Amino acid sequence: MSTDLTHLDVTALQAALADGSASAVEVTQAHLDAIAAADGGLNSYLHVDALTALATAADVDRRRAAGEELGRLAGVPVALKDVVVTQGVPTTSGSRILEGWLPPYDATVAARLKAAGTVLLGKTNMDEFAMGSSTENSAYGPTRNPWDHDRIPGGSSGGSSAAVAGFLAPWSIGTDTGGSIRQPAAVTGLVGHKPTYGSVSRYGLIAFSSSLDQAGPMARTVADAALMHEVIGGHDPRDSTSIDAPAAPFVEAARQGATGDLSGVTVGVVRELGGEGHAEGYEPGVLAAFQAGVDQLRALGAEVREVSCTSFDLALAAYYLIAPSEASSNLSRFDGVRYGLRVGDDGSRDLDEVMAMTRAQGFGAEVKRRIILGTYALSSGYYEAYYGQAQKVRTLIGRDFAAAFADVDVLVSPTSPIVAFPIGQRVGDPLSMYAADLCTLPASLAGLPAISVPCGLSEGLPVGLQVMAPALADDRCYRVAAALEAAQDAARGGTFLGQLAARA
Ligand code: GLN
Repeated sequence: MSTDLTHLDVTALQAALADGSASAVEVTQAHLDAIAAADGGLNSYLHVDALTALATAADVDRRRAAGEELGRLAGVPVALKDVVVTQGVPTTSGSRILEGWLPPYDATVAARLKAAGTVLLGKTNMDEFAMGSSTENSAYGPTRNPWDHDRIPGGSSGGSSAAVAGFLAPWSIGTDTGGSIRQPAAVTGLVGHKPTYGSVSRYGLIAFSSSLDQAGPMARTVADAALMHEVIGGHDPRDSTSIDAPAAPFVEAARQGATGDLSGVTVGVVRELGGEGHAEGYEPGVLAAFQAGVDQLRALGAEVREVSCTSFDLALAAYYLIAPSEASSNLSRFDGVRYGLRVGDDGSRDLDEVMAMTRAQGFGAEVKRRIILGTYALSSGYYEAYYGQAQKVRTLIGRDFAAAFADVDVLVSPTSPIVAFPIGQRVGDPLSMYAADLCTLPASLAGLPAISVPCGLSEGLPVGLQVMAPALADDRCYRVAAALEAAQDAARGGTFLGQLAARA
């Protein structure tokens, strides 16, 4: 029974909890057992508090038995990326500098999931401060990909992707600044959605690049991702960039998509993201799986056109100026005084020395690289040439999207140009690591919603297809992704992750 419960998607888990075939305690225990058995190999969790999880689950069972009103997700376990602050629960953002810190409050996404009755299994591993594409930048060791333990699970939300694909959590919250929900979802065979910027609260996410950061769902099915998005989304007065507009019904959009009819939907294939003349760095197996996915969209009734967005060629350069610039400012708060680690404070040193020693020991190499890059890009004399130019590129990318969406309803591309690569292969070469973000960066810079949905295997490893939509049209992402998912499940005679489960 215990393996069965960890292999159910959330919709199925809810049904089992509702009809009494499983209690919340049984569901939670099954996941804790799976974590105990398998996480030594994956390193997907940084913190698991079994006793609290079981107590929360027992409370749900008691309230259900007493006929009390329950939250929409009562008894469903969840894992949170360790960038999400959780009251009284260790939160490190993958960094030594936050070791030992216990946040005094819950992030809005954590609070909303709690209020809905979820059971927090634990906090998942990640690249330090969400900087990376492989989870190798975690101060707490790399996470492994359940499809192949010698390969990366993507990043920066790689603990979340590995936990969900490895059946150690039914779903998880990830965060995405330049691709960190979509790319790890793609390389582990999950669905991952980056919501429209401003539509999910950033309150309580440890800030990396505030004009880009967004939290969102990582799940095994499009329907589950849509469900989590409905629970975490919506206006929050505590986030100054939160959009005060009613959210579209995502679950309904996924349900509609799953009927498999895309007639009337126009899909644009972005030439600059792997198309003719722009395929350098893209693996042939990824492009083949993507092309097969596009053919399936056409077979479902969508009208498919090629679209050109020339500014997308500049997205990587612009992102790697803007994100480090904002990070260099955001990370100044880690000063050895306010949070976590403090080094050298033995009475013999002044504040500046303690601060310098704390930051030297507390931050890893990639974080230091970003702080240096960002500080340089913002420095007087260089500001216009780097940060200023990058902001202009950002405007051009927004214009290219707007022009494209005048003609098509959604845009598609591969999510990542490459499948999960071997651990260690790219750590010494930051530029090749950054290239993993080629396809995800344009939607990030424009603040647009984008989902990654599985679209086949290349050399036995998952490939993701990305669907991008205009701001606040996240429902289109869910509809198109659900249609593709349903078509692929039908053709295969099972779910995407079923293939992985069958190997074990
Ligand atoms: N891989 C990108 C980076 O390293 C994106 C990270 C993210 O989305 N958090 O910045």
